[in-house]
Amino acid sequence: MAERNPYDVIIVGAGPAGLCAAMYAGRGMLRALTIERGAPGGELLNTDLIEDFIGFESIRGWELAQKFADHARKFGAEIVTDTVRSVRKQADGTFEVATEMDEVYHAPAVILTAGGTPVKLGVPGEREYAGRGVSYCAVCDGAFFKGAALAVIGGGDAAVEEADYLTRYASKVFVVHRRDRLRASRILQERAFANAKIEFVWNQRVVEIAGGEAGVEHLVLENTATGARSTLAVGGVFVFIGFKPNTKMIEEHFEHDAGGYFVTDERMMTSIEGLFAAGDVRSQLTRQITTAVGDATTAAIAVEKYLSARREAAAREATPAAS
Ligand code: NAP
Repeated sequence: MAERNPYDVIIVGAGPAGLCAAMYAGRGMLRALTIERGAPGGELLNTDLIEDFIGFESIRGWELAQKFADHARKFGAEIVTDTVRSVRKQADGTFEVATEMDEVYHAPAVILTAGGTPVKLGVPGEREYAGRGVSYCAVCDGAFFKGAALAVIGGGDAAVEEADYLTRYASKVFVVHRRDRLRASRILQERAFANAKIEFVWNQRVVEIAGGEAGVEHLVLENTATGARSTLAVGGVFVFIGFKPNTKMIEEHFEHDAGGYFVTDERMMTSIEGLFAAGDVRSQLTRQITTAVGDATTAAIAVEKYLSARREAAAREATPAAS
């Protein structure tokens, strides 16, 4: 394993929260390293158009990602491409961060901004047809379904927004929801209701994704009120039923909510001293770009204060008390 010089802070993930934390850490003159397994941008890269980031009435996801990364780099952000395998607290109170590429980094503080991974339906056919009609990213895969009828599963912001996006390729998009009311925000709902290519299929849960050699052919649905089964012919299915936070690199016990998201204090510090969490991994009411960058701002500034307090405490310990 290669050893790396200690940093002041290691930022795990380079989505909006990670890049914002890197920018603030740079401005705060901290030696910060950001580790990201893919391209900088996180969920922005899976989003076509962003219309709710204040100051930008409408901007492409990839374009905002680039602006965030450029801004962070302008303040000296060092971003490496690698996957973090573990974040371990050491006996001296610092952290050891180990990666898939066998690198080991050390720092007295870590900001975890690793986001989440899509929740799976867990029904027969989902794994079998993954990449052959089952997708979790409309921006990545929508264009493969020109002229096809598609199903979107879920009733939250992601499902409704992505259903609207998919209508630019699909002949028809069925939004299959397990209740008769959407969780999505009003503005997204109204846009979807006005889109003639979108049809809502209420009170239905998917019990099977079925198909053949060429991929997905139909869904087997079950009415959540009556239990009656039916089939829905589609060439593809996009699943947007929420996210599971990426926290598995933390082996130590930490305080979390029922969904497994980090509970933090007002500094964004988790129950593990020196470990901060920002963005989609953190327990909170909503998950927006604006809230992710807000969390990250607080976390980076709190890290600066935390490190000063640590240094002061170490200096006090090193100085013998006057008798
Ligand atoms: P979400 O808000 O948690 O919605 C998940 C949806 O999936 C809900 O409608 C839920 O149904 C349904 N669902 C959950 N488990 C299911 C299952 N096993 N089978 C069938 N349906 C299931 O998740 P999200 O839409 O991914 O959004 C996550 C966060 O990101 C939210 O805070 C959201 O506001 C934010 N976000 C915002 C935007 C935006 O502002 N433009 C875009 C995307 C995401 P029930 O309603 O019955 O629970």
